[in-house]
Amino acid sequence: MSIGVAILGATGSIGASTLDVIARHPDHFRCVAVSARSDIDGMLAICRRHRPELAAMSDPEAAATLAARLRAESIDTEVVPGEAGLLAVAEHPAAEQVMAAIVGAAGLLPTLAAARSGRRILLANKESLVMSGALLMDAITAGGGTLLPIDSEHNAIFQCLPSDFRCGEAPAGVDELLLTASGGPFLDTPLEQLAAMSPDAACAHPNWVMGRKISVDSATMMNKGLEVIEAAWLFGLPAERIRVVIHPQSVVHSMVRMADGSVLAQMGEPDMRTPIVYGMAWPQRLDGGVRPLDLVNAGPLDFREPDLARFPCLLLARQALQAGGAAPLVLNAANEVAVDAFLAGHLGFTEIAEVIEHCLTQAASNQLPETVDGIVAMDVDIRRIAGEFIGGPEGRRRHA
Ligand code: NAD
Ligand code: MG
Repeated sequence: MSIGVAILGATGSIGASTLDVIARHPDHFRCVAVSARSDIDGMLAICRRHRPELAAMSDPEAAATLAARLRAESIDTEVVPGEAGLLAVAEHPAAEQVMAAIVGAAGLLPTLAAARSGRRILLANKESLVMSGALLMDAITAGGGTLLPIDSEHNAIFQCLPSDFRCGEAPAGVDELLLTASGGPFLDTPLEQLAAMSPDAACAHPNWVMGRKISVDSATMMNKGLEVIEAAWLFGLPAERIRVVIHPQSVVHSMVRMADGSVLAQMGEPDMRTPIVYGMAWPQRLDGGVRPLDLVNAGPLDFREPDLARFPCLLLARQALQAGGAAPLVLNAANEVAVDAFLAGHLGFTEIAEVIEHCLTQAASNQLPETVDGIVAMDVDIRRIAGEFIGGPEGRRRHA
């Protein structure tokens, strides 16, 4: 009997790679439930190909249109709109695994619901861990399921740890985690040119093809900052023992330095189907359609220290992790608003860090709420502060 997989964020970059892995292994996996925000054509194509039992669309009008088009084609996938639809996908009774691949804070509630329901959680949505790591890790424990990291760096580290290691524990015998970072498209751009960089330039990642939000995060290196916080939750280590190393070729996906001096690395082509098929097949191994790594022709592999003057977002994220409390939540919310404004042409590239710094200063004394409702309310509040800073009189220049 094949394993049922539900995909939150099925029309995105991670969603597409997950569906590709499922299509390669119809004997192992079947897609039972999918969600998206508003991409009707994308969902229709998925329903035609995979015939899931349930399709959720958070945009109600998109849901109604999808339902009509499915009826017209006699496809009997049930469509559920809104937040209820996302939760129905997260808790779908036929899903043994849930891929959490919605981008941003919008993924928090469905990811938490999936965690509580005790399935295998394949976690791509790093923002939910950054916003409320304690709640999510507690939900996994309470649900009794397994959390497997899909973010390529964390998946690499997981692969380097002993086979009985489970996320949330502190791994024995480990001195330091080395998170590799490509440095993004602006690694060597003259500093004085950064302010004028366009959304398309920021999204032109040299090695990975990804959604636009994470692409901008890679250009600012906030992505690596979020990943340091993600690693702290997954691997139970403090900030000082999580080091970031620039590695422009994206061949080494991360490393673990052990107490005995051994450094273990996981390598491969920069293709998210490796961590995805690893998570889905774990503890077995399956072919994910990834091109074999050819080290002889990969060229030299370089490693360098990140330049924090070029990448202030990485520094802000480290400071937020060290400050603890609500700081990571504030960092994430401010970043999401700033990246949206940048992608919409309302904010300059280097102003992203200024928005985040402003919000961190404004909310410096905030305590992290203990409930999900409190977390969501604070997220909304920080978004308001960030929006006012971007649009308000004391705010930034408008580029539109
Ligand atoms: P994407 O933009 O390509 O796709 C996002 C998906 O989320 C889409 O299906 C979209 O419909 C859905 N979505 C967006 N906003 C929503 C909302 N408000 N409500 C409900 N659904 C919504 O993003 P992606 O690149 O696939 O990234 C997804 C997640 O995986 C992110 O958290 C990202 O950080 C993480 N991740 C991605 C990659 C990658 O290679 N793309 C690598 C590591 C981690
Ligand atoms: Mg990553």
